[in-house]
Amino acid sequence: MTDHLVDARVPRDLRAFIASLPKAELHVHHVGSASPRIVSELAARHPDSKVPTDPEALVDYFTFTDFAHFIEVYLSVVDLIRTPEDVRLLTFEVARDLARQQVRYAELTVTPFSSTRRGIDERAFMDAIEDARKAAEADFGTVLRWCFDIPGEAGLEAAEETTRLATDDRVRPEGLVSFGLGGPEIGVPRPQFKPYFDRAIAAGLRSVPHAGETTGPQTVWDALTELRAERIGHGTSSARDPKLLAHLAEHRIALEVCPTSNIATRAVRTLDEHPIKEFVEAGVLVTINSDDPPMFGTDLNNEYAVAARLLDLDERGLAELAKNGVEAAFLDEAGKARIKEEIDTFTSAWLAP
Ligand SMILES: [Zn+2]
Repeated sequence: MTDHLVDARVPRDLRAFIASLPKAELHVHHVGSASPRIVSELAARHPDSKVPTDPEALVDYFTFTDFAHFIEVYLSVVDLIRTPEDVRLLTFEVARDLARQQVRYAELTVTPFSSTRRGIDERAFMDAIEDARKAAEADFGTVLRWCFDIPGEAGLEAAEETTRLATDDRVRPEGLVSFGLGGPEIGVPRPQFKPYFDRAIAAGLRSVPHAGETTGPQTVWDALTELRAERIGHGTSSARDPKLLAHLAEHRIALEVCPTSNIATRAVRTLDEHPIKEFVEAGVLVTINSDDPPMFGTDLNNEYAVAARLLDLDERGLAELAKNGVEAAFLDEAGKARIKEEIDTFTSAWLAP
C-alpha cells in the first residue's frame, strides 16, 4: 500500500526542508511505529513467530489488502513484544527513527493492556519504557512522553486495567501525560468510557481520544462532552459539521491529522478528498502526525510533504504547521517556546540568501 506516497510530487528542496525541520509528533502508536528494521530485530529474537526476519520480505508483509488484514498484521507484530527487553528495544528504536526525522518531542501512544494481558509484568513494562525514554533523550535529544490508551475493542475490562495502570502512583510512569482511546469506533460508543476518563483526568492526565475517524461528527461531540477531550485523534468527520468546526476552533482543540493513515484505512477515499483544508479554513488548530507510519508506508516527513501539497504551503507555512504541533503538545510553556524558537531559527537560516 505505497501507491499513495505522494512526496515525489513535492519539490525536492521543500522535501529537504521538511527533513531538517524540527518537529513534534503527537499521534503515533508505539507498536504501530515498529519499522521493518525493528520488526526484523524482534522477529529474530522469537524464531517461532511467522513474521519474516528479512527486512525486504517485511515490506511485502506490510502490504495490506484491507483493514482486517492490517489488524491481523498489527497483532502479529504485537505478538513479538513478549519480554520487557522487547519493549525496551522497540521503544528505543522507535525514538531513533523519530530523531532521524528531527522530531524533538513525541507523545507516543502506548497500549499497556496489550502487554500486561500477555503476561509481561507491569512494573517491568513501565521500567522498560522509562529506561528507553531516558536513554533516547540522552542519546538522541528527543523527548518522549506517553499517552496510555484503552484498546476500545477489548471492552471495559481493558478500560479498567488501563485506567489503573495510568492512575496508580506505584505503577504509572513518570513520562505519562495523557489518556486515550483507540481501536475501532463502529460499535464502540465513546460515552461508556466516561468514568475511566474522569478518573484519568482527576489524576492529572490530559484527554486525547480517537474520534471521528471512521464514524460521524457525533463521535467527536461525544469525545468533547463525555470524555472532555483536549485534542482529537483524527476527527476527520468533523468537516461535515460546521458547528463542530467552529467549536474546535474557538476552544483551540487541535485535530491530530494523519492523512496517509486515513487513506490506508479507507476513512477518506483519496488524499485530494482529505478535509484538512476545510479544517484550516475554519480556523481549527491542525497538527500533522503519522499514526502507524511503517504500516502505512509513510513517516512524519512524508505526512508534512502531503500536507504541503494539500495546503499549498511553502517553507514558512510548513514551519507554522510544525509550530502548531508544538503548541498542541502537552508540554510546559518553556519547552514549547524552546522548540518554536528552534523552528524559527532553522527556517530563517534555511531561507537566508
Ligand atoms: Zn491512532
